[in-house]
Amino acid sequence: MEIMTACGSSAMSGSPAVVLRLVASAYTVAEKAGDIVRNVLHRGDLGIVEKEGAHDLQTLADRLAQRSVCASLSRRFPKITIIGEECAYSYGSMQELPPEEVSEDLIENGQAEEILQKVCPVEYCGVKEEELVVWVDPVDGTKEYTEGFLDNVTVLIGIAYAGRAIAGVINQPFYNYQLGPGARLGRTMWGMLGLGAFGFQLQEVWDNRRIVTTTRSHSNKLVTDCVNAMEPHEVIRVGGAGNKIIQLIEGKASAYIFASPGTKKWDTCAPEVLLRCVGGKLTDMHNNAYRYDANVKRMNSAGVLATLRNHEYYVSRVPESVLQALKSD
Ligand code: AMP
Ligand code: MG
Ligand code: MG
Repeated sequence: MEIMTACGSSAMSGSPAVVLRLVASAYTVAEKAGDIVRNVLHRGDLGIVEKEGAHDLQTLADRLAQRSVCASLSRRFPKITIIGEECAYSYGSMQELPPEEVSEDLIENGQAEEILQKVCPVEYCGVKEEELVVWVDPVDGTKEYTEGFLDNVTVLIGIAYAGRAIAGVINQPFYNYQLGPGARLGRTMWGMLGLGAFGFQLQEVWDNRRIVTTTRSHSNKLVTDCVNAMEPHEVIRVGGAGNKIIQLIEGKASAYIFASPGTKKWDTCAPEVLLRCVGGKLTDMHNNAYRYDANVKRMNSAGVLATLRNHEYYVSRVPESVLQALKSD
C-alpha cells in the first residue's frame, strides 16, 4: 500500500514540490540579503535617495538586496512572478537588469536543507511555478535603518498562491546587535501554511494586557485616533511591518494597528503567513483579508490590523471615522 502523505510523485521521485524548493531558496536568499544589508552599513555610505519624500527612502542596501533576491530567485524559478518593492520605482541608480546580467557576487544558489526535508502540505503539492507570486521587500524599515534603529530592519520574502499568502521568510539582519561584539548577528524565520512557523520562540503577552504596536515614522491623526480607541495599556512605536509582526509572535505586543494607507503587499505578505501559522490574523481595518495576486493594487489602502489573539475585540473598537476614511479594496 502506498501512503499518500506528501506529493505522491515528488515523494517517490525524491524531488520536493516546487513551492518547498522555492521556500528553501528564499530562506538562503534572504540570508544573503541580510549580509548585504549589514555590509552596506559597515562600509558607511548608505547612498540614500528620497522616493516620495523624506519619509520614503531608498538606500544602497535596498537596491543591492532587491537585485540579489530577485535575480537569484528568478534564475532558479524563471516562470514565477516576482514583485520587488524597488522595481516599483525608478529612482536613483536602481535599474532593472535582466537576471543573467546581475553580477555573480549578488547571486545566491543555496537551499535550506531543513526545508527541503519537509513534507509538502497536500494542497500545495501540485502547484506550478507559473502559479506562484513572490512579494519582496528587500529592506523593510529603511527609515529606521538610516537612523540606527537596527533591530527594526527585516528582509521580507512572501509567497502567494491563488491570491493568498501561503509561505514567507523574514530575515532580521541585526538581531542581537545590542549584545555587542561577539554576539551572533541576524536570524531567519520562516513559515508555510500547513507546516507551521520556525526560527523563533512563540510567546504571548503574558498578562492579557493590550499592548499596541504602531508606526514610529508614518503617523497621522487617523493612526493615533485608532490606536487610542483600542484603550491600550501601552503603545510601542517602532519601524517596519516585519518587525511589528515579530513583536506579536514574541509576546512583546498584542496588536499591530496602522489605520492608514502606507504599507504595501510586500510589507504584509510574508509577515501575514508567519502570524497565521501560529494562529494569528492580519486584515485591513474592516476585518477583510488582503489578496496577493500579481495584478492587485500594491497599496494596502485600508490599513493593517494584526493580532495573535482577540482579533474581534480590536476590530470592534475601530472608530467609525476610520472605517469611513479607509475603504476595503
Ligand atoms: P512603518 O510601520 O512606518 O515602519 O511602516 C511599515 C512599512 O510601510 C514600511 O515599509 C514603510 O516604508 C511603509 N509605509 C508606511 N506608511 C508609509 C507612508 N506614509 N509612505 C511610505 N511608506 C510607508
Ligand atoms: Mg517595507
Ligand atoms: Mg522596503
